[in-house]
Amino acid sequence: MLLGMWHCNCRTMVAEGRGLAGLSVHANILEPMTSNTLRMSTLFLRTLREDPADADVDSAKLLQRAGYIRKAAPGIWTWLPLGLRVLNKIEAIIREEMAGIGAQEVHFPALLPREPYEATHRWEEYGDNIFRLKDRHQADYLLAPTHEEMFTLLVKDMYSSYKDLPVVLYQIQTKYRDEFRPRAGLIRGREFVMKDAYSFNVDEEGMRKAYMDERGAYERVFQRIGLKYVPVFAMSGPMGGSASEEFLAPMPIGEDTFALAPSGKAWNVEALHTPELPEIDASNTPAATKESTPDAKTIDKMIERANADHPRADGREWAASDILKNVVIAVKHPEDEEHDEPWRELIVVGVPGDRTVDMKRLEAQFAPSELEEATEEDLKKHPELVPGYIGPMVLGPQAEAAGVKEPLRYFVDAHVVKGSAWFTGADEHEVDYYNLVYGRDFEADGVVEAVEVRHGDMSPDGSGPLSFERGVEIGQVFQLGLKYSKALDLKVLDQNGKAVPVWMGCYGIGVSRVLACVAETHHDEAGLAWPSVIAPAQVHVVATGKDAAAFEGAEKLVEALEAKGVEVIYDDRKKVSPGVKFKDAELIGVPTIAVVGRDFVNDGTIEIRDRNGENKVAVPADQAVETLLERL
Ligand code: ATP
Ligand code: MG
Repeated sequence: MLLGMWHCNCRTMVAEGRGLAGLSVHANILEPMTSNTLRMSTLFLRTLREDPADADVDSAKLLQRAGYIRKAAPGIWTWLPLGLRVLNKIEAIIREEMAGIGAQEVHFPALLPREPYEATHRWEEYGDNIFRLKDRHQADYLLAPTHEEMFTLLVKDMYSSYKDLPVVLYQIQTKYRDEFRPRAGLIRGREFVMKDAYSFNVDEEGMRKAYMDERGAYERVFQRIGLKYVPVFAMSGPMGGSASEEFLAPMPIGEDTFALAPSGKAWNVEALHTPELPEIDASNTPAATKESTPDAKTIDKMIERANADHPRADGREWAASDILKNVVIAVKHPEDEEHDEPWRELIVVGVPGDRTVDMKRLEAQFAPSELEEATEEDLKKHPELVPGYIGPMVLGPQAEAAGVKEPLRYFVDAHVVKGSAWFTGADEHEVDYYNLVYGRDFEADGVVEAVEVRHGDMSPDGSGPLSFERGVEIGQVFQLGLKYSKALDLKVLDQNGKAVPVWMGCYGIGVSRVLACVAETHHDEAGLAWPSVIAPAQVHVVATGKDAAAFEGAEKLVEALEAKGVEVIYDDRKKVSPGVKFKDAELIGVPTIAVVGRDFVNDGTIEIRDRNGENKVAVPADQAVETLLERL
């Protein structure tokens, strides 16, 4: 170990084919190691020809086959020398960009006490997703899934005045989440590397600026790494605008779906809002009628009947989208000022009959409350709800007139516009309403985004129809506002000596996930194909054949490249066939390959080609370095 930290005269050592014995003779222990070259003869590496049986995506297969990572347990990975090199390069780029916006690096423990997470309710909120453990005194600890609490407390511990702010802190740290389904290798791990940054400002404007700085740094990080990304609006917070954006790397294996507008803007489906639809003039719509409809059991039958008996005032036929479906949903609220315990509220949401409720989208608007479908038990407590015939006239603003004692709140989906005429339940068995007009005959307690978004729906910015793509979340930026500073009482004295809570932002990048996403989007059947900036080396020099001259030539090339600061993987293995060496080179995925073999021995040329076989040239040995440098 110790010896390995110091420079040896590698040239002599390798040329003489000696191992550690040679080191003791030639080592100058005062000179630190400068060689960056990875020699395949000694590199801790075993490439695999077959895909590991349980690898589910290409990046997981190739990173294991090429000897970058090894599986330790489900979702838990060991980094091998090649993998660590790429990881370090990604981290270096992130550190440079963080320094560029004035963020300072700190490092928290991963093992943390329960209390701070208790204060923000996250000890419970995280549910089964955190690894909890006890120390020998039976005190509760956790392996941090994220560090908002610790950063907030650290600043509280050290700062007390507006003069101390702004400050941006970050760390690159291992995180732990007991994911329900670890998958896709490093993409959804249970132990993973994250860069998390936090900004602290005395006012909201400061927070917004910090957010934009961080967002800019993210774009530069992903651009430099060579990873395609789409910033996606994640949720429109209480203060309007974009309180959070996710950066998604588009790829078919992604678990996130995002909606893309022709303008290039993108939204997480939960954050998508329906563009405002114009009100309809209902002055010609006939008065609502209530009728017995025993034969209208299916949507088709309902439409058939409506068209036969009640032609619409606007001349078009009734369609499924004119049926107002009223869905009962249970909202599970956390404790609040009026409730000492979490409590359950039933609500009803009216949606057009041709669309289904998207619970995740709807839930996003009730956060932090959670939603679930109402049970039969729930319905029994409300005799005004007649299954199959639930209508708005016994709900929300209309309930009192209908004599309902404890009315449920009634919401309509954004597709239900003022003036629209509906065919809907009349709260009696086998009785329906025709031409019940929203805004004329009934009102709602609020408008919500309740239904699924479809391909072709108009985008929120009005630039055209939406399309959908899949992606992997590689980062997220968040305007936290005062949530954590209030929960953990982080205040500073402002200019007037008044204690004010601090405005915070938080910003994460999944560092190990980014590495896997690059592998996932940069490979072919033969192996990985890294962008040069994060490849484990820039040039893969392959010495082939049995001729010692080829190895000597390769050695010279490697030395010359090293002198120019180029990182090299050198396949100096003796008695390994050229076929195996080329296969390994393609699997490992360094962008440029230089072959020193028979042609070098015969006519002094070195073959240079891209990892994918393109741009192949044969150059005289003395021009090889120059040619390579030009291509890098
Ligand atoms: P996801 O929705 O994919 O579970 P998240 O939104 O829960 O991610 P954040 O809390 O925003 O994740 O964490 C910041 C970043 O950490 C994410 O953008 C992602 O790149 C990365 N990350 C989160 N969970 C994992 C994981 N299990 N394995 C690897 N990286 C992860
Ligand atoms: Mg996220």
